[in-house]
Parts: sequence; C-alpha cells; structure tokens
Amino acid sequence: MKPLAEAQRTVLDAMPLLDTERVDIPDAVGRVTAEPCVSGEMVPPFPNSAMDGFAVRAIDVVRTPVALGINEDVPAGSVPTMSVATGTATRIMTGAPMPDGADAVVRVEDTTADGDTITILVGVEEGTNVRPAGGDVQIGQTVLDAGVRISGRHAAVLASVGIRPVVHRLPTVAIMSTGDEVVPESTERLGPGQIRDTNRMILLDGLRELGVPVIDLGIIGDDPDALSNAYRTAAERADMIVSTGGVSMGDYDYVKQILGEAGSVEFWKVAMQPAKPFAFGTIADTPLFGLPGNPVSTFVAFEQFVRPALLKMMGARRLLRPRIPGVVGEDISASKEREGFARVLLATDPNGSLVAVSAGGQGSNILSALAEAQAFAIVPVGVGTLSAGEPVTLEMFTWEESRTLDD
Ligand code: AMP
Ligand code: MG
Repeated sequence: MKPLAEAQRTVLDAMPLLDTERVDIPDAVGRVTAEPCVSGEMVPPFPNSAMDGFAVRAIDVVRTPVALGINEDVPAGSVPTMSVATGTATRIMTGAPMPDGADAVVRVEDTTADGDTITILVGVEEGTNVRPAGGDVQIGQTVLDAGVRISGRHAAVLASVGIRPVVHRLPTVAIMSTGDEVVPESTERLGPGQIRDTNRMILLDGLRELGVPVIDLGIIGDDPDALSNAYRTAAERADMIVSTGGVSMGDYDYVKQILGEAGSVEFWKVAMQPAKPFAFGTIADTPLFGLPGNPVSTFVAFEQFVRPALLKMMGARRLLRPRIPGVVGEDISASKEREGFARVLLATDPNGSLVAVSAGGQGSNILSALAEAQAFAIVPVGVGTLSAGEPVTLEMFTWEESRTLDD
C-alpha cells in the first residue's frame, strides 16, 4: 500500500499549471492569482473624514465650549474650496476630503449649530476622526501575492486599488459514474438490483464549490465500448477526468481494463480508510482520477486527491483543508494499516476543546452519516483506535484550504 502523503505528492507533482489571462474584478472571484497584485495607488486616495461633523484645527478646540464660524459644506464626492483658518470649521460628511488647514473632525453629536456658527462641545486631538491617505494601502504595496485563490473580500481589495488581476484559467472537469446497477437520481422506482447514482451529486457539489466548468457525462454502464468512448470524449474535451466505480477487484470492473489500454494509468492501493483503491494517470495527456465507487470513498478521495489537484492546476499555493486539534468523545477506530478519515460531529466542551463523536455508521457506503458530519477525525497509521479523551487531529472539510503539502 502507498502512504497517503506519498500518493498525494505524486498526484500533485503530475498536475499541469494552466495558462493565464487578465480578468475583470467581479470575474476574478474563485480564480487564482498568477502574479502579485501591486498597488499603484494609495487607499484611501486622499485624507478624509471618518465621521459626519466639523473639520477643525485641533488647537482651536482645546477649551470647550467654543464657537467657530462655518466655512462651507463638503458632502462626500465633492471637494473643499476653502481652507480652515483659525476660528473656523467646515461642515463635512463621512468620506469627504479633509479641507486644508483642518487636522481633526468633531462629531456632529458633539456640537450645536446656530446659523453660520457652530459650537464645539467636546475637544478633539489632532488626527481624530481623520482617515489618512494610504492608511489602508500604500503605493507599491502588494495587496495579493501570486497563488492566492481570490475571495469576494480579495476582490473588494482589488476594486479599491483598481487592479484587474492576472489569473490562471479554470480547469474543465469531465465526470462520470460507472456501473450497470447505477441509475439516474431521478428514477422513481428502482428495478431489481438497481441503486440511484449518488456519486455525481458528491462530485458536482465539490466542483461547484471550486467554481470550475463541468462536463457531466452521466452514468456509463459496465460495458467496455461505452466506457472506452466516454473516456476518449472526456480526454478530448476536459482538463481533467473524474470517474467513480470500477477500480477495485470485481469481475466487471472494466474501467480497469479500459484504462489500462487507453492511457497510462496506475492502480493504487492507498493506505487510507475509506478510499483504498484508486486509479491515477493520463488518457491522451489528460489527468484521470478513477475514484472508488462507494459514495463515502468517492467523497474522501475527492477531498484528498481531486480537489487539491484542481487547486494546483489553478495555480493555488494552498491545497489542503485546515487541520486543527480536538479530542475524541468516544472510541474511534480505523484499520491499523491505513490512515482513517472518520466522519464526526463536533461539540465544544467546558474547556473550549472541540470534542468529536462519530456521525454515524463508518462504512464507506453510509452516506447519511457523511451528510451530517462536520469534519474528519484523522486516525493515523499504526494507531487503530483513538480512545475517548485522547487528542485527535480534525480535518475541517467545510473550511477553505489552508495548507500546502509541507504544512
Ligand atoms: P465499485 O467501485 O464499482 O466496485 O462499486 C463499489 C460500490 O459502490 C458498489 O456497492 C456500487 O454499487 C457502489 N456504487 C458505485 N457507483 C455508485 C454511484 N454512482 N452511486 C452510488 N453507489 C455507487
Ligand atoms: Mg462498479
């Protein structure tokens, strides 16, 4: 058996990096920066007021109350025409540029107005309620490194500096479920021996989260010609092929036979539980992932191989989900020879520790427990059982990726 870390490294090292393009900021969300984004501007671009109030010279309002003559009104979006001389103030709104001469803003709540005169009730120090130019971003500052998957918040930063980023192309992924017993999820009445296709739901959801284009080839029966055609079509049209089923030891596991003929594909036994059997290689230079057919195995293999591989192709530096410490609230077991990914529910104990208990049946076919689970509890190779109260590493499969292979 291949250790999981070694299998992951082999897979990730084999992934091609997709080419790059410059995109509009709203379209950049979910894409990965191919080069650093360096600001040519300051944010804010000019000193401005953080409050609705009066721009003053702080030295004029050391002793309060004090009456000042009002120069003019400056709403946001307009520009002051007068400087603030001793004994005067300018009415200013949040976000409006500070007038020359003023060095602080008194909140409107701390004043009383009477015609052209404002009485300042509370003094302010120099700089109070003023947002300096460049207080957020300086000229020449890197606002985004290369290799960052752009969030909506990152997009907002890019908008603040007006940078359309250079990003990697998104990989198109062709998916298919295989198996004569597998029928569409829309099937109302199952025939003898049939089950509804659950794996494509798992794959579609994982791919939707990454925002990558999908070619859904549906369900392919255990038929060498149909499989062969499907893989060939997938290789022509997609940057990656993901199929489920047919990679284990059964007599009808034609996937294995087809892949052996169509490309250079290896069949691995990865030291993980679930998802031990796994096919990896290329068909016509297109990377292929043959995931095991049991739905929980499909999910675990998608998380450990497919998702990080797609992120690698997209140019991301961080590939793997966060791992955080917790304790197990009950005994959790896995095969001693393999790294276990137990599906767990989390609660917080009085010390603030995360306590993990089994989300339900741990068989690789038990989807209902996977659906409720909030994390994987990792049972390391050689351990077998984590006993109640023992520390455990939790992999947070609903959190955004945070780790490289070396973290
Ligand atoms: P296989 O890897 O093809 O030997 O399949 C292993 C197990 O997973 C069998 O019980 C299959 O019926 C089941 N299975 C395979 N594909 C799917 C699918 N798309 N949806 C639900 N179960 C599946
Ligand atoms: Mg099958």
